Amino acid sequence: MENCLFCKIVSKDIPSEIVFENDELLAFKDISPAAPVHILIIPKVHINSPIEINSSNSAVAGRIIALAADIAKEKGLEGYRLVFNCNEIAGQTVFHLHAHLLGGRSMSWPPG
Ligand code: 5GP
Ligand code: ZN
Repeated sequence: MENCLFCKIVSKDIPSEIVFENDELLAFKDISPAAPVHILIIPKVHINSPIEINSSNSAVAGRIIALAADIAKEKGLEGYRLVFNCNEIAGQTVFHLHAHLLGGRSMSWPPG
């Protein structure tokens, strides 16, 4: 999608530090890490936000969660947090579906 930051990262028009890539998904380091490990996992196709996940496109969401588990294992994380911010009120700033994989430090709950 035109003018979407993460679509430009998918097309490599904007560089990123890629951690994993296949035909469907891209994982890359967050430019402003909130934890020692902070990786964004996105579908290559443009989906605005988790609010658009439904029974016809939910398989990709499952594969995002599975990829997060693989990356966490590879990085030796004892535990991690997987966050999907949904809409501005919940902190979403980039409107292309993404999971934040956060780890490498202890975390409190509830979040702010
Ligand atoms: P959101 O707030 O929408 O859930 O998360 C967007 C994330 O994208 C933020 O954590 C922000 O640091 C990250 N981000 C914004 N611009 C860029 C960029 O150009 N490159 C990378 N790698 N991450 C970005
Ligand atoms: Zn996009």
